[in-house]
Amino acid sequence: MAVALFGGTFNPIHTGHLRIATELAELLKVDTLRLVPCAFPPHRGEPQVSAEQRLAMLRAATASQSLLIADDMELHRAAPSYSIDTVTLVRQQMGDTQPLFLCIGMDALLKINTWQRWQELLLHCHIVVSSRPNTEQPVSGSVADWIAQHQCDDLGTMQQRPAGNVHFCDLTMLDISSTSIRKNIAQGKSINFMTPDTVVDYIQQHHLYE
Ligand code: ATP
Repeated sequence: MAVALFGGTFNPIHTGHLRIATELAELLKVDTLRLVPCAFPPHRGEPQVSAEQRLAMLRAATASQSLLIADDMELHRAAPSYSIDTVTLVRQQMGDTQPLFLCIGMDALLKINTWQRWQELLLHCHIVVSSRPNTEQPVSGSVADWIAQHQCDDLGTMQQRPAGNVHFCDLTMLDISSTSIRKNIAQGKSINFMTPDTVVDYIQQHHLYE
């Protein structure tokens, strides 16, 4: 069975993540899509909310969703979260033949050449990129060259291969970010409908982001 991973800081998880993850699971025809919070974002410094709290919110958000599950595999690692380590480990666990999809946003793709051993990622997985408001595909430089070599528009073909391609998809991008949630809370504004009620309740009970 194919596996799909969707990584992020999820600080906190929001409706934009959940909508895109649901559409990705359907598009990629996987039984479940695994939402993988990073332990320590290598490019961002330590978030003010603990990894356990981010995971708890992810679990609260996905509890009633059969298509989405929270996967804490990166939280068990002492080292910073590097996607190359995650896909290598998942590939070892699932064997060599089935497709592994790493789903990222266009904003993440633009910086992928700063990721650890980024050019080795496609040895282990496909990369599926969803566009996001106000971000365009790179047109020149090392990432653009790498895309040109590996882009595949036919998901059916990719389903037959375990790894090696980059695919772009145009899905529903809600204009919600974790930053906008944190900002609203800091300004005393409501975050209702930006994230599920269970997450709103958790944030309020634990006085997060205040
Ligand atoms: P922050 O505002 O703190 O930067 P974020 O909202 O971008 O956070 P992340 O946890 O960094 O959330 O995002 C994880 C992944 O989800 C990234 O690949 C990002 O592109 C994607 N993503 C985030 N928000 C949306 C959205 N509204 N629609 C679609 N994809 C999104």
